[in-house]
Amino acid sequence: MQRFIGVSARERKALMDGSIRRTRNPPWNPCERHTCEGCGAQEGELHRVFGCEDERCPFCDGQLLFCLCCYKKLGLLDRVNPPPEEDGLALDSFTEVLTAEEQCAWEAILQQHGRIPYIAYPGVCARCGSLMPDPFMVPDEEWNYYIQRDQQGVVLCRACYVLIVHWIDSATKPFYGVSTSD
Ligand SMILES: [Zn+2]
Ligand SMILES: [Zn+2]
Ligand SMILES: [Zn+2]
Repeated sequence: MQRFIGVSARERKALMDGSIRRTRNPPWNPCERHTCEGCGAQEGELHRVFGCEDERCPFCDGQLLFCLCCYKKLGLLDRVNPPPEEDGLALDSFTEVLTAEEQCAWEAILQQHGRIPYIAYPGVCARCGSLMPDPFMVPDEEWNYYIQRDQQGVVLCRACYVLIVHWIDSATKPFYGVSTSD
């Protein structure tokens, strides 16, 4: 039997008997002007650090710090051979290839096009509405199995995810088989 690597039996039981508490909504006042944790910009302002990790790219809507638009817009994409993965470390080290002049040119392109001001959009669990749930990792194949396709892009809190897994497993076919270990 395949080992259960998603939601453990212990975690399900704890949720059912109430020993895991649902996340309580932290105080979050939508009328209050929030500050970007990365750079200190207030809502409505441009990020104060160019390429603050919360800044979105106005060309691709991705994370400005990690997208490939600087290379595309500067005509440098052929420098990438083979192109780096559009995630994490490979691109992280690749971004150092931009020279100071290229960085200036890229900043000018962005200024002219219009950068995206900082506004706080707190994550909300799509099922229970709790604000800013703690992020958790689930293998893609598990997530895609339990979460119906039209909802796969949403945010869920861990408690709702555990319940979804539990109910699907008990009512239909479990993805991993029934777990007997912790
Ligand atoms: Zn910022
Ligand atoms: Zn981009
Ligand atoms: Zn929830």
